[in-house]
Amino acid sequence: MKPLIIAIDGPSGAGKSTLGRRLARELNLLYVDTGAMYRAAALAVVAANVNATDADEVARVAARAEIELAGDPDSLRVMLEGRDVSAEIRTEQITRLSSVISAIPAVRRDLVRRQREMGARGRGVVLDGRDIGTVVFPAADVKFFLTAVPEERAKRRFEEDHTRAPDLTFQDTLADINTRDERDSTRADSPLAIAEDAVVIDTTELSVEQVFARMLDTIRERQEDF
Ligand code: C5P
Repeated sequence: MKPLIIAIDGPSGAGKSTLGRRLARELNLLYVDTGAMYRAAALAVVAANVNATDADEVARVAARAEIELAGDPDSLRVMLEGRDVSAEIRTEQITRLSSVISAIPAVRRDLVRRQREMGARGRGVVLDGRDIGTVVFPAADVKFFLTAVPEERAKRRFEEDHTRAPDLTFQDTLADINTRDERDSTRADSPLAIAEDAVVIDTTELSVEQVFARMLDTIRERQEDF
């Protein structure tokens, strides 16, 4: 049987990773957090002391980086050169840098190739990102685009982040989300965009449970075996 591919795209804080993990667990599929891969590549760039404006050198470092996603969806660990970097890739510096280096076409080419290889394995995969339904798997079996108003997305992100970074304010988080969305949506290569055949869900007023139920219904309507 050909692996089932479920694509979840959308801006940051829309609920992609929470829902992606839950769907993968429910359907017994692999979960691939593609944002974590761009973050791990950004960390490799910092570790190599390379200037982010040197696109060729950044791409070389990213291509050489050994990035692995280990463990099950709920306890996914992100490994760089065999080291667990799950916490390190969530700092403000890496968040910003991942968005900057993800605009470099050679970096994208390399990570997209790895994502396609991951998608070919096993029973199926849930991938979350910005370009999964448009570029990485344009023929995905089911595509979702999750969104929410920026203030709600910033609120969710702030609740997650401010225990780790007590100096962070809500306004900082909102500004960061807006800058990142703007950069991700306007870059020339694979900008954040809604695939023509995506099911769009605005999660602003919905609970995780409600979004989960809607996504699961959509998948089951289309895939009788799941
Ligand atoms: O999803 P997350 O916030 O962890 O992603 C970090 C950054 O990686 C995003 O801001 C975006 O610039 C980039 N990204 C991307 N394409 C993807 C996933 C993430 O460009 N498929």
